[in-house]
Amino acid sequence: MDLSLDISGIPHKRGTQFVRVLTERWFERNMFCPACQSDYLKKTATNTKVIDFFCPMCDEKFQLKSFYHPLGAEVVDSAYKPKIDAIKNGTIPNFAFLHYDNQRWVVKDLVLVPRYFIYPELIKKRKPLKRGAKRAGWVGSTIVMSRLPSRAKIAIVHNGYEISREDIRKMWKDITFVKDLSLSSKGWLSDVMACIEKMDKEVFSLQDIYSYREELARLHPKNRNIEAKIRQQLQLLRDRGVIEFLGKGRYNVGRSLV
Ligand SMILES: [Zn+2]
Repeated sequence: MDLSLDISGIPHKRGTQFVRVLTERWFERNMFCPACQSDYLKKTATNTKVIDFFCPMCDEKFQLKSFYHPLGAEVVDSAYKPKIDAIKNGTIPNFAFLHYDNQRWVVKDLVLVPRYFIYPELIKKRKPLKRGAKRAGWVGSTIVMSRLPSRAKIAIVHNGYEISREDIRKMWKDITFVKDLSLSSKGWLSDVMACIEKMDKEVFSLQDIYSYREELARLHPKNRNIEAKIRQQLQLLRDRGVIEFLGKGRYNVGRSLV
């Protein structure tokens, strides 16, 4: 992977279009498929909405978003409704967030969020554009990145360093089981995984995780039986080998989550 961005021959002034061409060109030349053994991704036809790249071998789809600043807790994104519709009908692509240095023109960070971790509550509605604006009434969205567990934010490039392709594919594979869950289960599992990470312990107890009861209740206001839901997620994580039951309400995450 060559982390430098090739700014030569781009027929646009420095601005949104310039950056789009620049980063898409880099992604096309350097990115591989994390979901299979394909060593490249292909660009979709220019007018395809939402999807930018796809894998010619397994057909996973990727949308690239680029920023000149590090990735924050929230990411401003495109229109709200089409995104929610795409989540509900299962056509949401994987997201690739690229942070570049606009002085030295290099890629600093590249993070992938697998599509299975994108559930409706992760997308916040923005205020409609005011009357008189070019697209008055248009409603954009924000992706709440801070709500996601770090396992759902797979680093390809971290602080200017490349992560090994083998490690990335393994990380991707380890969490693909989330794909088969219902939308509400995805949200629950993701939130409980994030709580386990926040504890930052190798061994935790049921009481430890129950201390996030109120926080989880706020995130899932319709659910009355929070503790049962927490236990259900722990069971699922155990069945998938992410955590281990030690007995007597104790769990081991080893170094797999923290
Ligand atoms: Zn693939």
